[in-house]
Amino acid sequence: MSGNKSYKSTCSYCGVGCGIIVNKDSKGNLSVKGDPDYPVNKGMLCSKGMNLNYVVQNTSDRILHPEMRWSRNHPMEQVSWDSALDRASAVFKSIIKKHGPDSVGFYVSGQCTTEEYYIINKLTKGFIGTNNIDTNSRLCMSSAVVGYKKTVGEDSVPISYEDIELADCFLIAGANPAWCHPILFRRLENHKEANPNVKIVVVDPRKTQTCAIADLHLQIIPGTDVVLYNAIARRLIEKNKIDKKFIKNHTKDFESLKEKVYETSLSSAAKICGITVNEIKKAALYIGHSMRFISMWTMGLNQSVIGVDKNVSLLNISLLTGQIGKPGSGPFSLTGQPNAMGGREVGGMANLLAAHKDLGNPEHRTQVSDFWGGKKISEKPGLTATEMFDSLNSGKLKAIWIVCTNPVVSLPNSLEVEKALKKANFVIVQDISHNSETTKYADLLLPAAGWLEKEGTMTNSERRISYLYKGVEPPGEALPDAEIIARFAQKMNFEGFDYDSASDIFDEHCMLTKYTNIDISGLSYERLKNEGSFQWPVPSIDHKGTPRLFEDKKFYTSDEKAHFNVPKHTENQSEKVSKNFPLVLTTGRIRDQWHTRTRTGKVNRLDTHIPSPYLEINGVDAFERNIKDGDIAIIKNGRGEVRVKVKFGYDIRKGVVFMPMHWGKILDNDFGRANNLTNNLIDPISKEPDFKYSAVEVIKFKKP
Ligand code: SF4
Repeated sequence: MSGNKSYKSTCSYCGVGCGIIVNKDSKGNLSVKGDPDYPVNKGMLCSKGMNLNYVVQNTSDRILHPEMRWSRNHPMEQVSWDSALDRASAVFKSIIKKHGPDSVGFYVSGQCTTEEYYIINKLTKGFIGTNNIDTNSRLCMSSAVVGYKKTVGEDSVPISYEDIELADCFLIAGANPAWCHPILFRRLENHKEANPNVKIVVVDPRKTQTCAIADLHLQIIPGTDVVLYNAIARRLIEKNKIDKKFIKNHTKDFESLKEKVYETSLSSAAKICGITVNEIKKAALYIGHSMRFISMWTMGLNQSVIGVDKNVSLLNISLLTGQIGKPGSGPFSLTGQPNAMGGREVGGMANLLAAHKDLGNPEHRTQVSDFWGGKKISEKPGLTATEMFDSLNSGKLKAIWIVCTNPVVSLPNSLEVEKALKKANFVIVQDISHNSETTKYADLLLPAAGWLEKEGTMTNSERRISYLYKGVEPPGEALPDAEIIARFAQKMNFEGFDYDSASDIFDEHCMLTKYTNIDISGLSYERLKNEGSFQWPVPSIDHKGTPRLFEDKKFYTSDEKAHFNVPKHTENQSEKVSKNFPLVLTTGRIRDQWHTRTRTGKVNRLDTHIPSPYLEINGVDAFERNIKDGDIAIIKNGRGEVRVKVKFGYDIRKGVVFMPMHWGKILDNDFGRANNLTNNLIDPISKEPDFKYSAVEVIKFKKP
C-alpha cells in the first residue's frame, strides 16, 4: 500500500469510547490523534489512547501461528489452522458426548467486538446447547445490570455524556474517573471550571485524584455505601426535597423504601460509615437543591458481595428526586471495558439472552433458538466467571475456551485459578500475544487479530455504537476472533456460521433486536460508516438514535413504572477482618495501565507514570508496623501473599490498604499480583466478585 491513509476508529481501552483517527504513512508507520468531530471526546485522548499505535506496531510478542501440544508433558508446536481446529472440534465433541454440553465453557472479554460476542453466544447457547458462556465483564458491570433491571425493568443506561454539561450536581461513587475514565473526567472538570456553582460529591475510602474537583468527599468505611445512600434518602424525605408528583405517577414501592430508611438515624448512619452527620446532610442538601442531578459509579459499587444492594440504593436517590428521563439528570454507570455494553446487547453472559431477551422466559428462548435454527436453548443459567473456574477445580467443567482475557491475573484468588487451569482436561486460549500469563496453561493457542486489524462494532458507556475500521493486516496467520469461531462451528458441523463478513453478523444481530427495547434494526455498517456513531435504540433506517431514555416516563417494567428497591443487606457481607488479618485490602486501577498490562505493558512511556506495583497504606498503620515510605512490605492472608513497595500517606483511610490490580508475574515471581489475596465471595444475584474487600495483614519485608 502506498501514500498516506487515515482510518477512523474507537479507542479499545475504557468504556468512555473516544473517537480516534489513525494515520498510516507510506512506510506503514502509524500515528493516532483524537477525532475532533467525535461527540464523545471532541479531539481529546488520554495517555493510553494516545499511545495505541505503539501497541499495534510492537508485534514482538504476538502469537503468529496456531500452536498445540499433544499432552501436558510435550512442548507447544506450530500447526496449521486446519489441524488446530480439527483438534479443538474433536476434543469438544468427545467431551460433550461423554459428559454432556455443560462440561464445556467459553470465557470471553469486554474487549471483544459485538460481532465476536454475538457469534460465540450463538455457538454456545444455540448449538452446543449450554449457557456456559461468561465474560470478564462479569467482574465489572454485572451488579449494575441487575440494579437497572430491578429499577427500570431492563439493563439500560438512561443518559449520555452530553448530559454532563447540563447537570448542576454529581455524586461520583466508587469511581476514580480522573484516572480510569480520563476524558469523561476532563469534560466534568471543564464543566465545573466554567460553572463553579456545580456541586460534586465523591464517595470513596481513598482521597483519589477525582477529589481534586470535589466540593465534598465522603471518605466512608469500605462496604458501608448502602447505609450512606439510605441516610441521604432519609434526609431528602425529611426535608421534603423529593419529587412527590414523579413518585406518585411513575414509581412503585416508595412507602417500603421510606419505612426502611427511617430504621436508621442519621447519627447511627454516620457512625457506621465513619463520617459526620453534617457530611450526610451536606450531600443531601446539594442533591436536594439540584435542578439536574447525575450519579456516576463503577467498580467501587459493583465489585462487592452486596453490589446489587449498593446499586439499587443509589438508584433510589434518582427516583426520589425525579432526576431521570430529563436533560442533565439520571443514573450513569460507567463501563470499564470498551465493549462491555455491546456484550450485554448480544446476551454475552451466562444468565442473559441475545437482544436483552430473558433467559428465564420460555417464549424468549424459543424466539432466539427459532431465529438461529439450532438447538433448544437450555433454561438452566450457565456458569459465571468465578463459577467456571471453581467447576474446573471440582472437575465438573472439563474444557474451557478463553478468548481475549487473562484470568490468571484478573480473577480473584489467582492461585486457585492457576490450579483450575492445570486441572482442566483441555484449555484453549485465543489471544493476540504470548505475554498474557494465561497462555502458558493452553493446550491449544490460537492467534487472534487485534484492534485495527479487523472490522467490527463496539458500544460505549452511553449506548453509542461505533464502527471500527480495519487499517492493517494482522501479523502471521492471526485471524479475527469471529472468523476463528465460525470456522470451529463449521468443523462441529453446525449450520448458520457461513458468514461472508463481520457485516453479515452485525446485520443478523440487528435483526434479532427488532421489536425489543434495544431495537437497532435501523442500523447497518453502511450507516455507521457514512453517518457516524449511533446511540441505541435505532429502530428504523431514518432514525437518528436515542441520546436519552425514559423522557416519556414510561419505564421498561411491566407496569411502566420505575421501582424503588429496598436493599436486602445494609450491613456489609464481606469476609471479616480479624486479629491476624486486621486491614481491608481494596484493589483498583492506575492512570496509565490497562487491565493486566498485556497491551499497555508494551509501551515503555506508560511505565514512567507508575513503573511497578505498590501498596498504599495510611501513615498511622505504617507507623504501627514500623514501615516507612519506600520500604518493601509483605501483604498476606490465608490465600497468598505479595511483596511490593510501600507508598504511605494520609489519602487512604486508616485500616484500609490499596493495591493496583494490573501486575501479574514480575521477573518470574508473582509478588506483585494483587489477586493472590482477593477472595472468592460473590454477590448472590449478580455473581460479581468482592474485589474491594479482603482481609490482610502487612509486615515489613526483611532481607534474609
Ligand atoms: Fe481511550 Fe478511555 Fe482514554 Fe478515551 S478515556 S482515550 S477511551 S482510555
